[in-house]
Amino acid sequence: MTTLTIDLEAIAANWRWLAARHGQPIAAIVKADAYGLGADRVAPRLYAEGARHFFVAYPQEGAALRPLLPPDAVIAILNGFFPSHADTYLARHLTPVLGNREEIAAYTACAAAQARRLPAMIHVDTGMNRLGLTPQDTAALQTDPAALQALNIGFLMTHLASAEYAGDPGNIRQAHSLRHAASGALAGIPLSLANSSGVFLGAGFVSHLARPGAAVYGINPTPAQPNPMRPVLRLTAPILQLRRIPAGASVGYNAIWTAQRPTTVATVSAGYADGYHRALSNRAEAAIHPVTQGSGFDAARLPLIGRVSMDLATFDATDHPGLRQGDLLELIGPAVPPDEVAEWAGTNGYEVLTSLKPRGGRVYSAL
Ligand SMILES: *Cc1c(COP(=O)(O)O)cnc(C)c1O
Repeated sequence: MTTLTIDLEAIAANWRWLAARHGQPIAAIVKADAYGLGADRVAPRLYAEGARHFFVAYPQEGAALRPLLPPDAVIAILNGFFPSHADTYLARHLTPVLGNREEIAAYTACAAAQARRLPAMIHVDTGMNRLGLTPQDTAALQTDPAALQALNIGFLMTHLASAEYAGDPGNIRQAHSLRHAASGALAGIPLSLANSSGVFLGAGFVSHLARPGAAVYGINPTPAQPNPMRPVLRLTAPILQLRRIPAGASVGYNAIWTAQRPTTVATVSAGYADGYHRALSNRAEAAIHPVTQGSGFDAARLPLIGRVSMDLATFDATDHPGLRQGDLLELIGPAVPPDEVAEWAGTNGYEVLTSLKPRGGRVYSAL
């Protein structure tokens, strides 16, 4: 059984540190169940730290959050306004992030039907070509009195495409395009620009509200440099069996790993159904937990051997004769950072975190 331990104090410390670094307010990004760590626990904790803007992707996520937060918390829906869920936005006081003309028209009609202004944010596309108003759409909004009357626009926001590459010239272009959109009838509306990595890009990327997500959850926002964030989670699983196999014997499905020496195989109670990716087969390492010798989080590591299966993974324990059945391995955590696991799996830390489905449950405590 995998257990996910989550350190809310470390999450709060990361959020405070990013807020101090930004020097202007920052939001709490709690979409996808707070990157897999539990929005029901993370959001109230970050409210207590001073967060007043909460971003999720879907109205259902926002509706679940509303009863957990005081009324002055703004809950913004990044994927916009779903007219089929208009009642949810109204009843739960959700703020859609509007990113195209059709949405603006539908939400304006909704406000008209309510005979009141409704809260909104406007997403301006500055280079992602995904969601957000084109320059033509922005010009249309600037000259649309009905929409401007109906919408109480809290922020104009855009999303950086390559903020983790500090030298990418697109970053400056995007920041400039956002400021350019805040003209005419949209002048004076507060701006929201930086994601986690954007907070590290310097003065040109400071806005009225940064939106760091990943860094709050311990993912390195500056991949070319050491991670400045505190680790916030640990995924552990117990060793179910230790067995000795001779040189030449193979391990697991399809026999993709063969022992070159007499080997002790540690079979661990974790698999891809726990979010421990199958792509880690023959590639990952795990650390012995708790760390009994050495300093800090420098634990001895065991290589993963063979295929990761649904509920089990196998490690080479030959060099660690002290290990016993029932001992725990750290699969992801301070000693085996999510960014490193992501590299082994051919993905990023975001997907590692949002994949986690610990069947032994979540525990909220210090790491
Ligand atoms: C997810 C998301 C963020 C947070 O990005 P991180 O890279 O996790 O800091 C910010 N803004 C938008 C629009 C997002 O979708």
